[in-house]
Amino acid sequence: MKISNLEAEYHIYECQGCCLGFAVEVNADQSHIVCPDCQSEDLRDVGTGTMIITSIAKEKDPAGTES
Ligand SMILES: [Zn+2]
Repeated sequence: MKISNLEAEYHIYECQGCCLGFAVEVNADQSHIVCPDCQSEDLRDVGTGTMIITSIAKEKDPAGTES
């Protein structure tokens, strides 16, 4: 079984217009961020967080062990 983890840091925003919370990759341009739903620029800066994307390439694993 092959497991690969992709770790990325995100900046979290919360829209004050529709209360939508969303994350923008820290590497992305943070200068002009708008709500993806209502396009409002009135956003609350919640902070940063790390998201770990785990993808498992399934192979034959009859034991199926998981810790
Ligand atoms: Zn919004």
